[in-house]
Amino acid sequence: TRGNIVKAALLSKRSGGGHQIPMVDTARVFAKHGATSTIITTPSNALQFQNSITRDQKSNHPITIQILTTPENTEVTDTDMSAGPMIDTSILLEPLKQFLVQHRPDGIVVDMFHRWAGDIIDELKIPRIVFNGNGCFPRCVIENTRKHVVLENLSSDSEPFIVPGLPDIIEMTRSQTPIFMRNPSQFSDRIKQLEENSLGTLINSFYDLEPAYADYVRNKLGKKAWLVGPVSLCNRSVEDKKERGKQPTIDEQSCLNWLNSKKPNSVLYISFGSVARVPMKQLKEIAYGLEASDQSFIWVVGKILNSSKNEEDWVLDKFERRMKEMDKGLIFRGWAPQLLILEHEAVGGFMTHCGWNSTLEGVCAGVPMATWPLSAEQFINEKLITDVLRIGVQVGSREWGSWDEERKELVGREKVELAVKKLMAESEDTEEMRRRVKSIFENAKRAVEEGGSSYDDIHALIQCKTSLDC
Ligand code: UDP
Repeated sequence: TRGNIVKAALLSKRSGGGHQIPMVDTARVFAKHGATSTIITTPSNALQFQNSITRDQKSNHPITIQILTTPENTEVTDTDMSAGPMIDTSILLEPLKQFLVQHRPDGIVVDMFHRWAGDIIDELKIPRIVFNGNGCFPRCVIENTRKHVVLENLSSDSEPFIVPGLPDIIEMTRSQTPIFMRNPSQFSDRIKQLEENSLGTLINSFYDLEPAYADYVRNKLGKKAWLVGPVSLCNRSVEDKKERGKQPTIDEQSCLNWLNSKKPNSVLYISFGSVARVPMKQLKEIAYGLEASDQSFIWVVGKILNSSKNEEDWVLDKFERRMKEMDKGLIFRGWAPQLLILEHEAVGGFMTHCGWNSTLEGVCAGVPMATWPLSAEQFINEKLITDVLRIGVQVGSREWGSWDEERKELVGREKVELAVKKLMAESEDTEEMRRRVKSIFENAKRAVEEGGSSYDDIHALIQCKTSLDC
């Protein structure tokens, strides 16, 4: 049977990176498996992936985009809704309902942030699957810490605890756990409840990345979970790899030319994802640490927080010029073609904030990582990278909290230098990490090929037409 799998990817610009990119890729994966795939979104979000979908429309696996618009005379505009994941998008309920009634899809994958959409989908008896943007490991850490009421019994935020009941020994502190675990809110409770009432969860991961945790989710947590990733592997052409999320604001050809002039594994790529804004003070520490490490690099700076133009000129422009003159590094402010950079053979390491997508993309580029978590579930993902998979070194970020709020402790230049040197050294340790990550990447490729675990999971999901035979 062929299903009309409809996907809701109504996400904002701010969470647009980490949630929207894999949702669009998942739509492609569904389409390649023969499902009629529709991405439901808003006008401003559609602009970010329209080009790549238009290319798909010329292929054998067409995908449609269904744009929901807000009713006239409402105060919330589409661009407002693009401001962040917490923004209430429930104004789209009526247009969504109309679409669902008219098209009656066989199933719908809903991003967890659209907490208003669950009731209407359930009322219409359309099988609802949740997409939460994360893997099995973070899920097990969160569920087990909650179940054993661990956080409530700690004497301080910095007291270490071992997450109970897991296959590996994972040590964390309360200040490294996601905010919704420390301060549950109506918002987070609703998201949890909607996931519990759903048919199951679609997970952008693959079995061999985290087998013990995939089994744990399925058998011990008793959740239906389809592991269908890494969905980024569906981007095969240079255009697709270039235009994920947004149009790059940098000239990717000059970036690739520069990489072409470098030796294999000699360049470090640094990015903190689509959301983080770096305060000037931290930026300086990174710059000094990088210079002291004498390492070639590409650094995607993104947005800078709380700085005057003078200060930016002083640090970045001077540093940037010096690095360019020495042919040491490139600095980009804006949106980079991350997949193209990571997959270039000159890139031998990735300094990452451990967002789930970046983690998978690092794995799929076969590069070890220097981990620098900031917020969300990133500290948990760091443990997966460094303690479970052993494909990374920690830079030394200790405490949860977005840089935006300026309450995060700075990571000093010495730590940056040390982590970079460790990661990029021509040492047996680095070679070991490289061998391990490359072998995980081989497993990832196998997972998405015919007969692989992710291939089979997506196939099984498309086959099941009702909650009963899933
Ligand atoms: N990304 C990109 N170019 C950039 C910054 C980010 O293509 O300049 C992509 C990156 O490849 C990844 C996503 O944005 O697919 C970021 O998702 P992740 O889960 O790593 O972090 P988040 O942005 O959600 O914190």
